[in-house]
Amino acid sequence: MTLSRRALLRSLVPAGSALALAACVEEDAVHFSIAEPGEGPEPLLDQTAAPPARAQEPPAIRLLSRTVAQGGTFLVGLTGDGIASAEVEFRDWVYPTAWEGGAFLAVVPAGQVVGSTAQPSPGTYPLGVRFELEGDPTPRTLQSTIAITPTNFPVEYLTFDPQTATLLDPALTEQEVAILGDAYGTFRPPRMWDGFFVRPSRASISDVYGSRRSYQGGPVTGSHSGVDFGAAAGQPVAAAAYGRVVMGRRVPVRGNMIILDHGLGVFTGYCHLSEIWVAPGQAVRAGEQIGAVGATGLVTGAHLHWEVVAGGQHVDVAGGLESRRGGEQRADGQAHAPSV
Ligand SMILES: [Zn+2]
Repeated sequence: MTLSRRALLRSLVPAGSALALAACVEEDAVHFSIAEPGEGPEPLLDQTAAPPARAQEPPAIRLLSRTVAQGGTFLVGLTGDGIASAEVEFRDWVYPTAWEGGAFLAVVPAGQVVGSTAQPSPGTYPLGVRFELEGDPTPRTLQSTIAITPTNFPVEYLTFDPQTATLLDPALTEQEVAILGDAYGTFRPPRMWDGFFVRPSRASISDVYGSRRSYQGGPVTGSHSGVDFGAAAGQPVAAAAYGRVVMGRRVPVRGNMIILDHGLGVFTGYCHLSEIWVAPGQAVRAGEQIGAVGATGLVTGAHLHWEVVAGGQHVDVAGGLESRRGGEQRADGQAHAPSV
């Protein structure tokens, strides 16, 4: 039986999802990779009529949308007969693919490179998919385009006590970026997560991804690499999805930090923890408690900083969280939501 391309696209991700990496929130779950069937845009290259006889299907790029917001991600598929390997090129970065559900897939980010505080400029960019056919090493390329649309990131002014402010030293940031680059820089092909990312904390969101930041009254130089949950010290932190622990240690700015690898170049990081309950190499389930909220590293108080990295860039998968139903109130009664 030959699947229609629409059916094929929908078969690539778990039941109830279409091929799109976006984020939305219902109840307590962050849905990573979710556009419900019938609600999301149709595949641009969709052709529902099956050919009368099984013919060789030529390679084709599969996208659900040709736009992505600053800080977002999109999924690229390459389908066709006889393809041996494929990789995606976008904005001078090359992304490996993994074979799944009848297509070579890549998660492609439009966020801030790990170690950078810059978002990509809005505009239309070429998207290339390079591939080889079985038994033929001739490099081939298909081209498309993706438009990055602007996101309105808020600006915040943060003041730290003098002792904590010593962590603003660029040398420490450089040291940390090298550690993060090692942990976030690998690509393990199988996608380990299954449909939904769960909230890592039951607390309310206290700061969004991408907020621009001024420190100690200085110019706006920072950019928030993740999402803050206003949880009190000691509250449990949950794994957002099934994954493997690749790091659990103290780093200068993010404090005690856990990084989980979810496959396909997607990672989650849990920062400023008071306790780490897992060790590198360990597999964890979605929702499994992996540590406790704390105030280690560069913080204005206890909270959970949670970040998502895809393809080597910090991205937003929690857009819209603030406008949705909040979590629990802080147990310590603090009115101001600590952050960083
Ligand atoms: Zn944060």
